[in-house]
Amino acid sequence: MSGPTVLRGPAPGADAMHVPVVIVGAGACGLTAALRLADAGIETVLIERDAAPSGSTALSSGFIPAAGSAAQRAAGIEDDAERFAADIQAKAHGTAAPQLVAAYAGAAAAAVDNLARHGLRFDVLDGFLYPGHTARRMHTLPERTGAALVAALERAATGAGAYLLTRALARRIWADEQGRVSAIGCERPDGSMDVIGCDVLILACNGFGGNAAMVGEHLPAMREAVYGGHVGNDGSAIAWGRQLGARLADLGGYQGHGSWATPQGALISWAVMMDGGVQINLEGRRFHDETAGYSEAAVHVLAQPGGVAWNVFDDRTLALARSFPDFVEAEAGQALKTCADLPALAALIGCDADTLGRTLAGVCPGAADTHGRRFERALQAPFHAVKVTGALFHTQGGLDIDAGCRVLDQAGLPLPNLLAAGGAARGVSGNDVSGYLSGNGLLSAVAGGHIAAATAAALLGRELGQGLSEAPFTVNRP
Ligand SMILES: Cc1cc2nc3c(=O)[nH]c(=O)nc-3n(C[C@H](O)[C@H](O)[C@H](O)COP(=O)(O)OP(=O)(O)OC[C@H]3O[C@@H](n4cnc5c(N)ncnc54)[C@H](O)[C@@H]3O)c2cc1C
Repeated sequence: MSGPTVLRGPAPGADAMHVPVVIVGAGACGLTAALRLADAGIETVLIERDAAPSGSTALSSGFIPAAGSAAQRAAGIEDDAERFAADIQAKAHGTAAPQLVAAYAGAAAAAVDNLARHGLRFDVLDGFLYPGHTARRMHTLPERTGAALVAALERAATGAGAYLLTRALARRIWADEQGRVSAIGCERPDGSMDVIGCDVLILACNGFGGNAAMVGEHLPAMREAVYGGHVGNDGSAIAWGRQLGARLADLGGYQGHGSWATPQGALISWAVMMDGGVQINLEGRRFHDETAGYSEAAVHVLAQPGGVAWNVFDDRTLALARSFPDFVEAEAGQALKTCADLPALAALIGCDADTLGRTLAGVCPGAADTHGRRFERALQAPFHAVKVTGALFHTQGGLDIDAGCRVLDQAGLPLPNLLAAGGAARGVSGNDVSGYLSGNGLLSAVAGGHIAAATAAALLGRELGQGLSEAPFTVNRP
């Protein structure tokens, strides 16, 4: 079968199976939207290419930022949507789509609280702040993994009545000349195609991180980088959007990560840097302000000799790092090296001990750091070290959408019944790697899925469940 295609006119056989809402992609975004729609009694089919939902969500740490949630209140954390929005825009240097910053920052707490009502037991990550966040707002399940998050979302969504169709690769969309979608066709393992008619289509199939040609074209700095996300995210939403006349935005935005253990291929939490760790290249030198952000750090690390660096930290930070399952996995894979003193660390890195000595002498309170970092403490031997490289985690550009997640055409007007959110749509990071505030990925997926469900319900003229807010705009019904 060909790649993602839009066909004009009625779909053959679409009348045989017709549902109000079809969602493509069962990651955090699709499952969040499906749950909310199922809660409202709206029949929804969720199409997923894999045998079971996973997506990039399952590969992630599963940390969802939200401001003003019940979990924050329970932890005594003062925070609100305005403050969160200001943090997002500050990281993106004011270039993030304002309608989405306001909508996502405003909806995230309601979205997380709604998931909590369905049994997802969130608490708020403690002990450090990710770069750019002015409050503790990372919501996590007790397991602290994306795999646990997606499993819990699947249980909640299917338990509420959403229908999940797995091993179904969405390939065709049928639409009329005005861009109104009438059906979707998905390829099954035996080569046949199921056609499902729908009144509203939500694209929740993430971005183009798994499409090497598109990465090369839009993100040249990541052309050679390892991709840490889900390979099935092949840019389908963008391909369909182009054929439907949709506007694309922020295609240069993405989440990189400068702390991907090599050769193990595991995430070493940036908490290691925020707690006092540093990155040192093969020459024994630091090369950036590690507290600026892990996303842009991917580019800095890849620019070093060999495209690698060593994360160096001490005992205090090791204890914190071991609270992250990804780190524990990396340690089990022999990623962690421990050196009794500075000469041993220089030997591990393969650099000149005097150069390394000067570098570590600069890691102390009051030091004038050429990279602009202010240190609160010096590192104490023994030193721990993990060799890392820069990786691409997911793309942040995609279909342009309004505050209700409606896909916009070239003139900025919403297409009749096509919605997108999560990685399938533009995010809130602007057009550059440095605009990514930690958590923008799952923020777009969870808050976006929550909003898209409300918009779908409004387009159908249906009521949302008790206690759920209405779509944040007026819609023209189909
Ligand atoms: C290592 C790592 C750690 C991360 N940690 C965090 C974190 O802690 N916090 C955070 O906010 N973000 C994090 N992210 C980013 C985050 O994982 C993503 O932004 C988020 O999961 C996107 O959710 P989604 O639902 O849009 O996409 P996904 O979870 O990728 O789901 C998309 C689904 O669509 C399916 N699909 C794609 N195309 C088709 C098709 N044509 N037909 C049928 N199905 C299709 C895929 O199989 C997939 O299941 C991390 C990413 C990585 C790689």
